[in-house]
Amino acid sequence: MTDYIARAIAAGNQIRAFAATTKNLVERARQIHHTTPVATAALGRLLTVGAMMGVMMKNPRDVLTLQIKCSGPLRGLLVTADASANVKGYVHRPQVDLPLKANGKLDVGKAVGKGVLSVIKDLGLKEPYVGRTKLISGEIAEDFTYYFTHSEQMPSAVALGVLIDTDYTVRQAGGFIIQVLPGCSESVVGLVEDKISRMAAVTSLLEQQLSPEAILEQVLGDVGVKFQERIPAQYACNCTKERVEKAIISIGKKEIEELIAAREPIEVNCHFCNTTYVLTQQELEKLLEEATGA
Ligand SMILES: [Zn+2]
Repeated sequence: MTDYIARAIAAGNQIRAFAATTKNLVERARQIHHTTPVATAALGRLLTVGAMMGVMMKNPRDVLTLQIKCSGPLRGLLVTADASANVKGYVHRPQVDLPLKANGKLDVGKAVGKGVLSVIKDLGLKEPYVGRTKLISGEIAEDFTYYFTHSEQMPSAVALGVLIDTDYTVRQAGGFIIQVLPGCSESVVGLVEDKISRMAAVTSLLEQQLSPEAILEQVLGDVGVKFQERIPAQYACNCTKERVEKAIISIGKKEIEELIAAREPIEVNCHFCNTTYVLTQQELEKLLEEATGA
């Protein structure tokens, strides 16, 4: 199955829903960052929710950033996504390894620990929208359930899962977000809550070859689900040497002079895709001229 997000509405227009299969893009992140299983699971969950929240934005140039700052050994994670489900991200400490939980599952909650979740939406307005909530469990899905309810005042159910294979590659990844829209009846909420509470974990459903649509059908079938769109999702970094040069110009004249004084080419590494850009002394001098001219 290639990665994609299914978008749906249900119970007339009382509920909106997203479900994703993201195995390939999470595996791509693992290969780029050489993450351990627990770090792959944490980053994979955040990439998955990021891809789904990205497509909630309306304009092609909108940018979503999800940032977790935490006291657990992973220290922090960052994911950005656009409205076309192009997503990328990194974890501060990709090499963290922890014992499995008693139930045999990866201990994402412990790897993340306590901290703060920030959701930053750059919608092309003067100021970006910033929503911030504390982490509830560090398991990420619960933290977003809390975020949606308390920061966006939109009661939501969020499920996220990453299943790691015995060779540490990503075997399954995906999730769903179900959101109760204003005016939704109590009986619909009750039916859906009950369904979700009795459902298997999202990785088990994906392991049974259920598509995102089939997963939403399981949750929302009883209240009438209508599928609207299928959006391909992918890990994509838009860094270029030109962008790196612009970033260097923006740090200022004095800092560029210091880089030149070191008399060595400099290397700039993209956190998202691990590409290294080398800038020679001549190139730095040219950037200094541009910074001076500006
Ligand atoms: Zn990059």
